[in-house]
Amino acid sequence: MYRDLILPTAAAAPNVPGLAPLRRAMAAVWEALGSVPDPEVPAVSVVELGLIRQVEWREEELIVHLTTTYSGCPAADMIRTLIHEQLAALGVAHVTLVTQLAPAWSTDWIAPEARSKLRAYGIAPPHLTAERIDVAGISPLRHGTLRVPCPLCGSSRTSLLSQFGSTACKAQYRCDACLEPFDYFKPH
Ligand SMILES: [Zn+2]
Repeated sequence: MYRDLILPTAAAAPNVPGLAPLRRAMAAVWEALGSVPDPEVPAVSVVELGLIRQVEWREEELIVHLTTTYSGCPAADMIRTLIHEQLAALGVAHVTLVTQLAPAWSTDWIAPEARSKLRAYGIAPPHLTAERIDVAGISPLRHGTLRVPCPLCGSSRTSLLSQFGSTACKAQYRCDACLEPFDYFKPH
């Protein structure tokens, strides 16, 4: 019925009874966003990775502020497409994605529960950046002091094979105890 209403201006829309259902509850919106997996790490969602910075309604338009793990991440376009698809499935017609580059995303924003999901998926979660001993110009991965425990057997006897793993944001390690290779999500 409300579809037949002729609104004088878009700004008047929220005050018209019956239009409210077009704006889905924020909890439902977050739930939909929480079902969007990271294409490179499907075990965790973009929400758990801390990629969604803010969500707000402007009239019937949903504004989603998101950040990328690093600029030029090849998964960014896929993430945007998946977000649009999930919100469309929820019935949200107008979605604007705003890419927010500052403050820069940090692996510290990954939710604690996502860290255990990463481990269960076979990826060693990133150390908190405060745990690193930083020396300018030298990758922390080259430090002998940084131990990356094996996500499969838990052993700390592991060796760095390559700064780059299956994706640019991961490094390739091998466990010297169970001999399995694994990815380490590089902290930054
Ligand atoms: Zn192991």
